[in-house]
Amino acid sequence: MSASTDSQRMEKIVSLCKRRGFIFQSSEIYGGLNGAWDYGPLGVELKRNLKNYWWRVMVHERDDVVGMDGSILMNRAVWKASGHEGTFSDLMRECTYTHKRVRADQVLPQSGTEFSFSGAASPRDGTKCEFPIPLVILCRKGEHPDSVRRIARECFATIAARKLAPDEVKTLKLLGEQTRPIENSTDYHPETGGLLSEPRPFNLMFKTYVGATEDESSLTYLRPETAQSIFVEFKNILEVSRKKLPFGIAQIGKAFRNEINPRNFTFRSREFEQMELEYFCRPEQGMKLLEYWKEERLKFYENIGISRSKLHVLTVPDEERAFYSKGTYDIEYDFPFGRQELEGVAYRTDYDLSQHQKASGKSLEYFDEETKQKFIPHVVEPSAGVDRTVLALICEAYAEDEAPDEKGKMETRIVLRFHPRIAPIKCAVFPLLKNKEPLVAKAKEIVDLLRPHTYVFYDESGAIGRRYRRQDEIGTPFGVTVDFETLGEKDPALRDTVTLRDRDSMKQERVAIQDLPVILLERIV
Ligand code: ATP
Repeated sequence: MSASTDSQRMEKIVSLCKRRGFIFQSSEIYGGLNGAWDYGPLGVELKRNLKNYWWRVMVHERDDVVGMDGSILMNRAVWKASGHEGTFSDLMRECTYTHKRVRADQVLPQSGTEFSFSGAASPRDGTKCEFPIPLVILCRKGEHPDSVRRIARECFATIAARKLAPDEVKTLKLLGEQTRPIENSTDYHPETGGLLSEPRPFNLMFKTYVGATEDESSLTYLRPETAQSIFVEFKNILEVSRKKLPFGIAQIGKAFRNEINPRNFTFRSREFEQMELEYFCRPEQGMKLLEYWKEERLKFYENIGISRSKLHVLTVPDEERAFYSKGTYDIEYDFPFGRQELEGVAYRTDYDLSQHQKASGKSLEYFDEETKQKFIPHVVEPSAGVDRTVLALICEAYAEDEAPDEKGKMETRIVLRFHPRIAPIKCAVFPLLKNKEPLVAKAKEIVDLLRPHTYVFYDESGAIGRRYRRQDEIGTPFGVTVDFETLGEKDPALRDTVTLRDRDSMKQERVAIQDLPVILLERIV
């Protein structure tokens, strides 16, 4: 697919998410907050189904994993010991005129003509009003130089407005324009074209103060990952669960990172959720378990409907891996905006537990009953993002095909082909006509029959075709229609049967109402 169709596809997905209540911008009525999102009625269902399935597979269906739910605020000492306070940073560069930031490793090479406006602009009376530094902007290939001059004038007018009277600001003229050709340079901001500052580290943790005073003594951070609470609770959980190595502790929860450049819809957010497992083991088991968990996690994505052909495993090269990790895989997905990480599977050795043992002075060792040895366990960590996976699920499910309208004419249909397991609503129930009391009463009986088992939606408004279409667009896999045959009016043998429609094939089958719970559960689980 071409770059432009991919960006069109992404636009359609974002617009559908808002129109149908999956995802909204946070604080939208106040202009939003960059990097923060709200999940609407359907988004929250999708997210819960994903988290519940992860929990089922990673905790409930295993003997060797238990769960926990840690606090977001933790003692600052945790972040000192884990290394986050000192080193959890990205190299960042700043546009020298808008101060917009960008991650140093995310600047792509650009070519064009560099314009440098030095010195000053001159108002009417001949006084000079100087740029603090030369204003350097890249005029990219294909752009007209006047657009760069306009930016420079606007920028300079802002500076001059602080020093001059309003009518003088209007008469400013740019002076000292110099140009030079630029080929494939990463020194310009991808959006503004402004010259970038030298890279410098930018700590990604949000600071916060706990208690009445706002000083160093009460400083801590919003957690940037859920993993650390698992490490600091390791001993408590080991004691209460009486697990033997290898065993894991799983957690789903919020994490916060002050990302330099939130983008690609919810993909890179400042507030997000993680699903993390810390799987503790003996040192000699680490590398094998890294392979095991990579495979398990790939299976997981396939089981929620993400096709294997769009998943990729990147072996993180030595120089990019955390120094304590002996092996890391990134599981990536082909989003419409490119191939990007969904999950990291890392063999973190005994680094985290050793750090916390050293810093807290409390033993985090494991005692092996058989060998009578004491040692610090190693750990393999599959760490997935809830929001990124939700976005991948929506991107994967989005499709347009052709379906007949009321009069049998083919029209374009938007359909979210979610796996039934994660679809927000599992089944919609429709009476054929809303003004026929026996049809309505029967449909409501079916809703009551199904509700204890699964999430169903009752809809009686509009033509039946339009009702199907509304459900297709939000990915409801099954539709049950109560018609006159259900009432036994045409053929007594069909009394108490309904049509069950499949979202993807649009085929309808006639089934007995009493069989519906079993049929649906078999197809959803
Ligand atoms: P990236 O390189 O994309 O910044 P990362 O390697 O820093 O990600 P990890 O620290 O390994 O990410 O976090 C584990 C998982 O948490 C990621 O694979 C991702 O799914 C999720 N995650 C991390 N940062 C964000 C974010 N800013 N927004 C949404 N999800 C995130």
